[in-house]
Amino acid sequence: MERFDVIVVGAGPAGATAGRALAQAGLNVLVVERAATPGAKNVSGGLLYSRAVAEVYPEFWKHAPIERAIAAHQIVMLGEHTSTALDFRSAQAATPPFNAFSVLRAKLDPWLATQAEEAGASLISGVNVDALLVENGRVVGIQAGPDQIGADVVVVAEGTAGLLLKQAGLRGPHNPHDVSLGVKEVIALPPDVIEERFQCDAETGAAYTLVGSTGGVEGGGFIYTNKASLSVGVVVKIDSLYASGRHPHEILDAFKAHPLVQRLVRGGEVVEYSAQTVHRGGFHLATQLVGDGYVVAGSAARLLVNNVLTLRGMDFAITSAVEAAQAILQARFAGSYTAATLGNYVERLKATSIYQDWRTFKDAYGLMENPRLFSLYPDLAGEVLERLLTADTKPGSKALGALSEALKGKASWLTLSQDMLQIARGMVL
Ligand SMILES: Cc1cc2nc3c(=O)[nH]c(=O)nc-3n(C[C@H](O)[C@H](O)[C@H](O)COP(=O)(O)OP(=O)(O)OC[C@H]3O[C@@H](n4cnc5c(N)ncnc54)[C@H](O)[C@@H]3O)c2cc1C
Repeated sequence: MERFDVIVVGAGPAGATAGRALAQAGLNVLVVERAATPGAKNVSGGLLYSRAVAEVYPEFWKHAPIERAIAAHQIVMLGEHTSTALDFRSAQAATPPFNAFSVLRAKLDPWLATQAEEAGASLISGVNVDALLVENGRVVGIQAGPDQIGADVVVVAEGTAGLLLKQAGLRGPHNPHDVSLGVKEVIALPPDVIEERFQCDAETGAAYTLVGSTGGVEGGGFIYTNKASLSVGVVVKIDSLYASGRHPHEILDAFKAHPLVQRLVRGGEVVEYSAQTVHRGGFHLATQLVGDGYVVAGSAARLLVNNVLTLRGMDFAITSAVEAAQAILQARFAGSYTAATLGNYVERLKATSIYQDWRTFKDAYGLMENPRLFSLYPDLAGEVLERLLTADTKPGSKALGALSEALKGKASWLTLSQDMLQIARGMVL
């Protein structure tokens, strides 16, 4: 059987980064990717939060195929015919060390894979790993078609589905309750139109996080500016989508038909459509990260922070891959790759800021369960502002009176207070 020191399954951000770090340390590394080229099958909304990534790939923005530095972030509630927005702009976010970049995975993933190859890792693309080879409860390599390839340790970086782990009996099945489906279009628009519409310049861009207009299905939408296109999509809870009886593309079409979204995307040409599952980001979904002969990194380990305002999976994948690689090097030094010697990965990961952010926002998960957040409140916000901003011929009222009027027949004050407390627990306190 052919043998490597390490086999990495998957050349997404986690796999490519683990491959690079281990090859840099002089190990004989094989990275196996099922897509014809890395990134060809991968979907992200497309915001790469840059601070943690820059610790691994210093000043990557000078070399990597990034689209725009995100200097404006709009948080928008979409009512049926209203939109209520918080418009945040930061000149600092457009200068090093930046905050986030829009990226397209079809470009970013090949770049990451090249970094691994340049460090000395061998990459084979277009090869599906069919199974992990397990002997006496220990992972000893992979099966890919007729080939069995052995390794001292396997880095499982196969993304959300985690099929290999499940098939090897190392992980239980997903609960559909914990998984969302993301559907995304890339819509081509000339750069000058993007810059005028999103009030940015040639280098900078804007991100919109939108709540509402998903037909009552729990989830949210996003619009990110690329150089010459927009990434537009919705991420909705799978069980809620199923219960609605609607198709994912119908939800996306309805979202795009909202007057605000329509204004931003009009005249554009859809050049790409993709869909992928993604974990909902709950801290309680943390799963087993190591076992005898293997470590799990990135989305395969359900490492994703979603606090409603930001969705961070790519930087978490990259950070976890580095910590996994360091733990492997320590285990190598100790001379064995057991769950105990590799266990250092868990401690290392817990010490990272992104893991701590994950824990900090653990109560945000519950917010995504509350259907009123996605239908009632975006409408309510619009209605209250409409009442306050409309100079009517009838006498008006202050904000509380306007809210009381808008609430009538829709929710009680008690429900409203409980929901505000839930939002405070998730995001504020
Ligand atoms: C709609 C949507 C929007 C998102 N938006 C954002 C965002 O804006 N910002 C952000 O940071 N994160 C975002 N995420 C999350 C982010 O995409 C993931 O967290 C990130 O891709 C995880 O990286 P990874 O390397 O762990 O897994 P992946 O990127 O999924 O990579 C796994 C790789 O393994 C390969 N693979 C799988 N199985 C096999 C096999 N059996 N054999 C060989 N290869 C295999 C796959 O082809 C793939 O290349 C979003 C996700 C979705 C779905």
